[in-house]
Amino acid sequence: MKRTIRDLKNIQGKTILLRCDFNVPLSNQGDILDDNRIVQAIPTISYLLQNGARVIVCSHLGRPKGYDKFLSMFPVSVNLMKYFPNRVRFCNKVTGDEVSSAVSKLRDGDLLVLENLRFDPGEEKNDNAFVAKLASLADIYVDDAFGVAHRKHASNYGVALKLPNAIGFLIEKELSVFEKAFEQPKHPFVAIFGGAKVADKLNLINNVMDKANTIIIGGGMAYTFLQAQGINIGESIVSLDQIDNAKQILKTAQEKGVKILLPVDHVAIVKEKGKAVKTTQLKGDMVGLDIGNKTISLFCNEILKAKQIIWNGPLGMYEDPRFKKGTIKIAKAVAKSGAYSIVGGGDSVSAIKSSGVASKIDHLSTGGGASMKLMEGKVLPAIEVIDTL
Ligand code: AMP
Repeated sequence: MKRTIRDLKNIQGKTILLRCDFNVPLSNQGDILDDNRIVQAIPTISYLLQNGARVIVCSHLGRPKGYDKFLSMFPVSVNLMKYFPNRVRFCNKVTGDEVSSAVSKLRDGDLLVLENLRFDPGEEKNDNAFVAKLASLADIYVDDAFGVAHRKHASNYGVALKLPNAIGFLIEKELSVFEKAFEQPKHPFVAIFGGAKVADKLNLINNVMDKANTIIIGGGMAYTFLQAQGINIGESIVSLDQIDNAKQILKTAQEKGVKILLPVDHVAIVKEKGKAVKTTQLKGDMVGLDIGNKTISLFCNEILKAKQIIWNGPLGMYEDPRFKKGTIKIAKAVAKSGAYSIVGGGDSVSAIKSSGVASKIDHLSTGGGASMKLMEGKVLPAIEVIDTL
């Protein structure tokens, strides 16, 4: 079991470097569009401050190449002031004398927000000198940035090796949800996969195969599986280098008695005419971009019988309103099923939110890539380096 902040003793007066994932969506004007990632970190920050720690909070934001005033953490610090009035300071540097000076002025129960970690090229390179500078700021390191836990960066990997460390409440919750779902799954267990890239999800499907009763495959990745069965997919997206893997998955599923459901009809674009059509048979220059009504019924029937559901990836090109119906219907069915439900991946989580059913989902994971790695049965590097009890 990983050490959590509850296991840290005597943190009163200690300086804690807290890595959060405050990679929030911003408007063109730099306003925060959705502060969910900040909200998710509040329990950990509150706990540390209430116990008298001096907290330095750091995060990356976007993908800056060097300093970028539009990707400053300043708006994040302003947002945090809502939750911790008169307690929040901001330093417009990541390391260096100004940061050290700001840290020395912290009182017990204060919070200092550092500038965007990725303004320093050492962050993503896990550079030794940058790690040393970050580590020199604090007595203890706490990681609560689940969204980047599959990465080996300076602020979540290098620093953890240098300081006494622990995970925060958000990472603790994410780990326990996935552990429970995979170690004591409730049956029928239905796994739903969508999205475009088959290669990214092969390990995931293989790992789920040992636990799930039914695997539903939709979205762009379904076409590789359909082609593997010799079905005409027109000009739909396909990963030709994954056909053999898809065949193997279908064979293994049959041997293990796992039901695999694939689309039986589609909403497609006829390329030449540029218009959307419903069809059970793709051919010629048709491109399948959403699941059709028969498929929606087929998938929803199975979903409504489930006792546990995991879902990763949209069932169609849902960003285009003409092709979002399948994903939205699946989101609503997952909510209606009453099954223990876990949704991971930015697209599926946003489909759940835009369908207005977020409150009916047991766990909306805060990390797309990290949750996929957990579902693959992998250990996340940033969590591996945290001490065990
Ligand atoms: P991924 O990152 O692999 O989860 O893929 C997510 C993307 O898959 C989204 O941007 C969707 O638009 C895209 N997608 C879903 N279904 C299809 C499809 N049938 N054809 C092409 N792209 C799709």
